[in-house]
Amino acid sequence: MSKIDDILSYNEQFVSTKAYEQYATSKFPDKRMVILTCMDTRLTELLPKSMNLKNGDAKVIKTAGGIITQPFGSVMRSVLVAVYELQADEVFVVGHHNCGMTGLNPQEIIQHMTERGVPESTIETLKHSGVNLLRWLRGFDNVRDSVVNSVSIIRNHPLLPANILVHGLIIDPDTGELELVDKGE
Ligand SMILES: [Zn+2]
Repeated sequence: MSKIDDILSYNEQFVSTKAYEQYATSKFPDKRMVILTCMDTRLTELLPKSMNLKNGDAKVIKTAGGIITQPFGSVMRSVLVAVYELQADEVFVVGHHNCGMTGLNPQEIIQHMTERGVPESTIETLKHSGVNLLRWLRGFDNVRDSVVNSVSIIRNHPLLPANILVHGLIIDPDTGELELVDKGE
């Protein structure tokens, strides 16, 4: 069942009662921060609350696992846009315990794809076109290593200005407790 009808009818109400007013802010992050974190549902409200952030305080970039895999992919581009165009000057990479990207098995995902109707021939064609699905679908074994690696990619990026602080943290998805992994100086 699609949720679209429910969402649209709720939305009419939301706008007409001006429920949006309490969220009024600008596109610039008031606390001049960018956060890169995971799309995990447990973090939707918990992460900003546990970091004392309200609407408008921070730019939040979410990916599965909060991972940066490529220095010139869309995640890093978002970080750079936040820094250069939106006045952010501090970056927080926040991984979390018990992440769905831990121990992800790319071979198994590909199997699920074919079970749900993606033809084997499509997988083969992609392989021959130079798409390394096994690498692309890879998660991580250890959240700490993953955070350290993402921090390192951002910190050492040739296009990042020198005065930007980049920190690495791990959040507990139940309690919101933050553990500092790497503090930018
Ligand atoms: Zn996660």
